[in-house]
Amino acid sequence: MSAVETVRVGFIGCGRMATAIAQGLIRAGFVSESHVTGSDPSASMRDAFTNATGSPVVAENRVVVSGSDVIVLAVKPQHMASVLNEISGSVEARHLIVSVAAGVPLAMISAAFRAGTRVIRVMPNTPCLVGAGATAFARGPKATEADATLVERLFSTIGIAIEVPEPLLDAVTGLSGSGPAYVFQVIEALSDGGVRCGLPRNISTRLAAQTVLGAAKMVLDTGEHPGSLKDGVTSPGGTTIAGLHQLERGALRGTLMNAVEAATTRSQELG
Ligand code: NAD
Repeated sequence: MSAVETVRVGFIGCGRMATAIAQGLIRAGFVSESHVTGSDPSASMRDAFTNATGSPVVAENRVVVSGSDVIVLAVKPQHMASVLNEISGSVEARHLIVSVAAGVPLAMISAAFRAGTRVIRVMPNTPCLVGAGATAFARGPKATEADATLVERLFSTIGIAIEVPEPLLDAVTGLSGSGPAYVFQVIEALSDGGVRCGLPRNISTRLAAQTVLGAAKMVLDTGEHPGSLKDGVTSPGGTTIAGLHQLERGALRGTLMNAVEAATTRSQELG
């Protein structure tokens, strides 16, 4: 941890994702708040970031570059080109560039900097905002094993982080990037089912959400195949197999597979 503690992390753009990451790494003791800085043109965003993290924020992006070792690009994709243009001349060999902008390829980011600049592209998801993210990342040709390890540790403070080759980031977008919305629909539908069977709405939604959380935790904690866990709670002629039969009739599994495939295809089209 000692080498990590000396790393200075600067955020270009201090919105929701930057705040979540900064809070996560400070809370985890990954770096101290004095080793975190940020820049944002919005005074209200600067105030909110400082209130949430205790870290100093400025309006000028290049100040953050000069005072950091890891630069996290956390602006919206449409602002990336102007930010890259603004900071490229200030980036030095010591810097690691980490982009969280959805759909912005490594080639575009790398092309903005001098040859040899180490770049890593990250695809986080919305649950990062509550410390339960599923993040995948891809390293550019110059990024090292140590850079990948650093990014893996950084994003592990707000969930799990897994390295993949860049072409797989479209599938990551279709699964974990878009996935929270699929699960919100599943929770809403389970809640509707509970209400249909007489449960009050607030109780039904809480039970549905906690059931999804608990089932996910069992998959992650036990490492068991989800099908095996399903078999473990399905007794002959019982209630669960009656419910599962209806899910099969409704093609739940094929529908979810189609959703991931459609979102992956759309990500490829947009990229
Ligand atoms: P956000 O709008 O909350 O934050 C973006 C911030 O960038 C704002 O505070 C804005 O003032 C600032 N900004 C605008 N122009 C700037 C400039 N020229 N220089 C510096 N800062 C500038 O957005 P967010 O939700 O935090 O998303 C940030 C990035 O994270 C996006 O590229 C998005 O694709 C990616 N991302 C977000 C999520 C999510 O759940 N929020 C999930 C996956 C990926």
